[in-house]
Amino acid sequence: MASEFDLIASYFTRPSHSATLGIGDDAALLRPAPGMELAISADMLVSGRHFFPDTDPELLGRKALAVNLSDLAAMGALPRWALLSLALPEADEAWLDRFSRGFLGLAETFDVELVGGDTTRGPLNISVTILGEVEAGNALRRDAAKVGDDIWVSGELGAAALGLRHLKGETALSASAAAACLSRLHDPAPRVALGRALRGLAHAAIDISDGLLADLGHILERSEVGAHLDLASVPAAPVLRDHPDLLRNCALAGGDDYELCFTAPVSHRGRIQSAADSCSIQATRIGTIVQAPGLKASDDQGHLVDLPPRGYDHFGSSVPSLG
Ligand code: ADP
Ligand code: MG
Repeated sequence: MASEFDLIASYFTRPSHSATLGIGDDAALLRPAPGMELAISADMLVSGRHFFPDTDPELLGRKALAVNLSDLAAMGALPRWALLSLALPEADEAWLDRFSRGFLGLAETFDVELVGGDTTRGPLNISVTILGEVEAGNALRRDAAKVGDDIWVSGELGAAALGLRHLKGETALSASAAAACLSRLHDPAPRVALGRALRGLAHAAIDISDGLLADLGHILERSEVGAHLDLASVPAAPVLRDHPDLLRNCALAGGDDYELCFTAPVSHRGRIQSAADSCSIQATRIGTIVQAPGLKASDDQGHLVDLPPRGYDHFGSSVPSLG
């Protein structure tokens, strides 16, 4: 039976190239480049809460890292190192093989080095800490939105939430629609390149993990401003066209999109569009930052409309993600 150390050596230890000291000592040693600030974030995936226990371990490995990469994308930071803390019910080597393949594969894509972590027995729980760098003073913060800013969103929203409804048996999807939605749910694309390209252009940014309204709401609170959204311009995933009754809920309040929502001065419209084009990512203007606190939205006729409840809160009263 493999020991904890054998498992770490087999599945997680790789030659270190960007750390002074990687896996194997009491701590890793890292040296940020001169003039850079460290951006550090942690995100935990809990079995039964954030994913179904039978989820493909390779996809789980990718997603555990992807959601962390997304946090750094939202800061405009360049991801460099990660720590992985795993609680495993048993030393299931087939599971570890697939999980580490997913995790390390995505890490390689983003040139992120796994430099440490912890491995223990317990109910399946995956916790990743990510470290990145951003030029000092240049990070995209939630508290930096200004009155008059455009509000932008990358990509399209709502497919992941529709995929989750499908998994829970709440919405029946065609095979092709299910495949598209589940790929967005299980394998989100962190918008790291866009976040980097927005440095010096965007004022505030956040990644959409809990739904557009909830996450934009965090920018508004931290920046002490309000927003007016033009609902017709919110880019809903095309697959939602076949589910008009769910369109607003999934696109506005569905979680797991991992797109970026950001604000920027009107004068930067052209440069933002070019930045998004250069990353081959769609960017759409969906509203304006206003002085009056709160979130208002109007439809294509310009009439104010009621908004769906705001996304997911683990300790609040809204619907839990896996039901
Ligand atoms: P300690 O006793 O100091 O906690 P461990 O025996 O837990 O150290 O870990 C040994 C080494 O393996 C450390 O460098 C630690 O960072 C690394 N490590 C442990 N678990 C993981 C993991 N799941 N992924 C990557 N590195 C890990
Ligand atoms: Mg340890």
